[in-house]
Amino acid sequence: MKVIAIGRNYREHAQELNNPVPDKPVIFLKPDTAVTKHNRDFYYPEFSNEIHYEVEVLLQICKEGKHVNPKFAANYYDQIGLGIDFTARDVQQTLKAKSLPWELAKGFDGSAPVSEWIPKEELDTAGGIGFRLDKNGATVQQGNTRDMIFTFEDIIVFVSRYITLRRGDIIFTGTPAGVGPIAIGDRLEGFIGERQLLDIHIK
Ligand code: ZN
Repeated sequence: MKVIAIGRNYREHAQELNNPVPDKPVIFLKPDTAVTKHNRDFYYPEFSNEIHYEVEVLLQICKEGKHVNPKFAANYYDQIGLGIDFTARDVQQTLKAKSLPWELAKGFDGSAPVSEWIPKEELDTAGGIGFRLDKNGATVQQGNTRDMIFTFEDIIVFVSRYITLRRGDIIFTGTPAGVGPIAIGDRLEGFIGERQLLDIHIK
């Protein structure tokens, strides 16, 4: 299983980090050791002083896909979830300044909490999927997938030109504006609509 993540897929988030709005998806990978489930505690790593939360809607791939045809892209995911793309922002800034890859900032152990999955037919996606993240009871990020620059289908088509998608792979579809730091003792709660899917304590 691999985790494919999309950077800068919401205009306002690209702008808040002073990044250009991309004309094709920016992608990076996280190893399977980054994934945690069942709202396991997140342990603040010693190599960073600036871990940021990024709440993201997730897709779970349900069949092998290579050069997926746009017409059929929606058939390649069957479940939707919510995740946090924990990012060591200080480490990432140092790497970006040297034009180096981001893995150490994005792929460390525990950096990809994944919620339970919701079959996509159970979600009313006509108006997009609304989601949010609360930190210590206050909403810090609020998004709707209709504001994505690249849709779920765009992402599947694009990624599968380079990397074969396999059943069980997870796609992090990008974070809306409002990313920010966490501290030990914080509690992060993530919602799709009013349904709570994430409840993570920072230790
Ligand atoms: Zn992200």
